[in-house]
Amino acid sequence: MKVLVINCGSSSLKYQLIDMANEKTLASGLVERIGIEGSNLAQKVEGTQKYIVETPIKDHNEAIKLVLDALINGDNGIIKSVNEIDAVGHRIVHGGEKYTKSVIITDEVVRDIEEYSKFAPLHNPAHIMGIKACQALMNVPMVAVFDTAFHQTMPEKAFLYGLPYELYKKNGIRKYGAHGTSHKYVSQKVAEVMGKDIKDLKIITCHLGNGSSITAVKNGESVDTSMGFTPLEGLIMGTRSGSLDPAVVTYMIDELGYTSAEVNNILNKKSGVLGISEISSDFRDIIDARDNGNERAKLTLEMFAYRVKQYIASYTVAMEGVDVIVFTAGVGENSMVLREDLCANLEYMGVELDKERNRVFGEIAKISKDSSKVQLYVIPTNEELMIAKDTMQLIK
Ligand code: ADP
Repeated sequence: MKVLVINCGSSSLKYQLIDMANEKTLASGLVERIGIEGSNLAQKVEGTQKYIVETPIKDHNEAIKLVLDALINGDNGIIKSVNEIDAVGHRIVHGGEKYTKSVIITDEVVRDIEEYSKFAPLHNPAHIMGIKACQALMNVPMVAVFDTAFHQTMPEKAFLYGLPYELYKKNGIRKYGAHGTSHKYVSQKVAEVMGKDIKDLKIITCHLGNGSSITAVKNGESVDTSMGFTPLEGLIMGTRSGSLDPAVVTYMIDELGYTSAEVNNILNKKSGVLGISEISSDFRDIIDARDNGNERAKLTLEMFAYRVKQYIASYTVAMEGVDVIVFTAGVGENSMVLREDLCANLEYMGVELDKERNRVFGEIAKISKDSSKVQLYVIPTNEELMIAKDTMQLIK
């Protein structure tokens, strides 16, 4: 069975065609600047750039058409015809409280995704465009895989804010979390690698990339996560502030004269690692600057690590212990240096990093000492494969 995985943004579209017989990615690609001048499609086969088209792409319909053309015609043609695609899995950012797992897409599901656009105004409308474009061009079952679904097992004490209850009941203001597909994938994978039943494990998954979140996974279920009502809560990220006193927002508006749109822009695009360091949002640049003696870079990385460690500690409370901590995504998978920062001085919690084993980039590895009470693992995430697996399971 071949599954096409689609991750549709407002002006971009990522895709992967996965052969479920061996879970191999046959082709992956990115369409950029949909509806904007300079649009293009770039497709890779086995990690190598194989096919680039630069052509005006008016809308998502044209983008999907181009994707299908690329899969069929692209240089050596990955598949012979669209009929070889058995199903499509769509990544959906927000599924509200209703969607606790992946579902086959029906008219009702599309209406619900539209409804939850109020919580993800940049993403959900784009997902709908992607779904409708696929429906127009392909006659196969489609599945929606929600980023919020994995976190719907959180208990009320974890997902509610200390706000009037009515704001939750009437307006849906609560913690939803994000990156659920990634946290689910790496928690299942680490259990498999350890040869344990996930139902017997207390796992802390650290998805650290440009956007970052940490999840407490107890017995295979998310019981708390650091992202909240939106992906702005929690850790200090590339450009997002993470958690702060909400009074900062009203102070900036009432006393400093910012509009709410400006504050939103500052908190999402100009804060975090970029805002503190005034150097870059890319952790590699900050590490280089720290190596060259830049004090602000040092402070930035200290703040990042401090917050990550605070969440790790607090999730040992959520689960009454922890067996294994997993690092994933751009930083978690690739940065030996930052993993060392994040694990430093946690010996009192039973966390002992093995510096030699920690010399890994983007591959599955155990990086704790054999004496470490808490095991440490690097597990590369694979959200696309998780989406494809859910899709296959549902349509079978
Ligand atoms: P996104 O959240 O956009 O999916 P990724 O998970 O791809 O992001 O992570 C991207 C981030 O990973 C970049 O901002 C970069 O700082 C960081 N990163 C990638 N490789 C390294 C590395 N070797 N050392 C430190 N940081 C890295």
